[in-house]
Amino acid sequence: METIARLLNDSGLAGADRAQVDAARAASGDWIARGATRIYRRSLHAREGILSFIAAIGREKCLYQAAEKSFTSVFQGTRIAVGGISLHKAPFTPENAGHLHEAFPFTAPISLRGRKTTIGCGDRLGLATPGHIRAVAPYDASPVLAQQSMRELILTGRDYSGIVSDTSFLVFQEGFESGYGADGDHLKTIKDIDVALAAGMPMITLDLTEVMNPLPGSWSSAKVDEEFARLDAATRKHVTETYAGRTFDLAGCSVTVEAAEAKRCALMYGKALDFSRDVDRHLKEKRGNRYDLEISIDETTTPTLPAHHLFIANELLRRDVAVSSLAPRFIGEFQKGIDYIGDVGEFERQFTVHCAIARALGGYKVSIHSGSDKFAVYPAIGTHTGMRVHLKTAGTSWLEAVRVIARVNPVLFRTMLSAAYDAFPAASKLYHITANIGAIPAAETVQDANLESYLDASDSRQLLHITYGGLLNDPRIRGGFFTTLADNEELHYDMVAKHIGKHIRLLGVPLLGA
Ligand code: ZN
Repeated sequence: METIARLLNDSGLAGADRAQVDAARAASGDWIARGATRIYRRSLHAREGILSFIAAIGREKCLYQAAEKSFTSVFQGTRIAVGGISLHKAPFTPENAGHLHEAFPFTAPISLRGRKTTIGCGDRLGLATPGHIRAVAPYDASPVLAQQSMRELILTGRDYSGIVSDTSFLVFQEGFESGYGADGDHLKTIKDIDVALAAGMPMITLDLTEVMNPLPGSWSSAKVDEEFARLDAATRKHVTETYAGRTFDLAGCSVTVEAAEAKRCALMYGKALDFSRDVDRHLKEKRGNRYDLEISIDETTTPTLPAHHLFIANELLRRDVAVSSLAPRFIGEFQKGIDYIGDVGEFERQFTVHCAIARALGGYKVSIHSGSDKFAVYPAIGTHTGMRVHLKTAGTSWLEAVRVIARVNPVLFRTMLSAAYDAFPAASKLYHITANIGAIPAAETVQDANLESYLDASDSRQLLHITYGGLLNDPRIRGGFFTTLADNEELHYDMVAKHIGKHIRLLGVPLLGA
């Protein structure tokens, strides 16, 4: 802490007034540094004679407060007086994140209901936020910086309050004041939703996989008729009158719902739609209008037919559910970490219909799950959504962290690659990919300088993408992985920013002020 005090004195920040601190924050360079001690420039904030900022001594990063007189701090931490400065050091804990939200409201996640283009940036490590901010900030889009599914929480050993906490401190480090979202991703129960809400996450992605019934999707018309006849009279009347054999004219296209398909939809989605209404009411009760509900049906076994999307959208509207975004399952394959597999022309043809439904029935954003690296279809997605879109990515940022390891720590990367093969059988039960693991070149044949090629080729990319749980929990890897990233923080931020930036650019999101 003495080195921090010295740095404050040397740089003239000790005793600086608010205008001087604002000038220091706006000056060029990411840090004010001396040896292994660095103050993150964009985190500098002066309030009532107290200077708050993020600083790192070596690999230990904390929130600091400093003043020339003694002061009380709400942050839980330690205090010393040194070099005429009273210095308070607070660790990045969920409790301190709560205090940070009160002192600096821009560090707390908010509802992005009113924002047209939103970019989901899952960060499995709690380190990538500055890279994500640097990617999104130049564009007319808002980032969802904290975002994890239960599956990811379990595999990374993290929890929602820790995720929000990590993100909040890094938002402060970066001085990003434009607002960001936090997404409890792929939640299936009110119980799990409550955990995300308690952690302050305003966005809930409701996964309907387990409350919908996929079976009628493959039933014969006779079987559908038989089961439909068991539904209550009011439901049958409503479904028949509203949908059976009707054509819906949407601006620019039309969707016809055949009579059998209407009945099929009622059987497949009835319960799930009622559950969506319950969840929406629950969210409204807990957060007023300050929430974003995403409805996700992307993890189903078959692509979402336009007639089904229309049925779901219209029924959500009828139940008065405040849908911010909806994720259908699109045709073709959206596999983890690699480009779109399928007929781009056919994707585009169907995608325009999905967009027309979203526009006509609620005006929600079309949400693209497993959006990482789907560069071939981004231009079509940007064009047909008119940028009213939510793009969700996660694993691709993890792969950029692995790329840092490949570049600067070849020994560790080789250990990771061999551990990934061991972790693959378990991981491939959780993630559907078609990588040909046998086609990946043996590590002995690849020179250190070419290790990044594993992050460029699809097969090895998917291997490293889905095995993150096994890799992060491997005691031979975990420690070295995090210290290497800490020691190469700027390289990590740069790689993440470049890679996510490429997504946003290809989508065609306009630059701010353009
Ligand atoms: Zn999904």
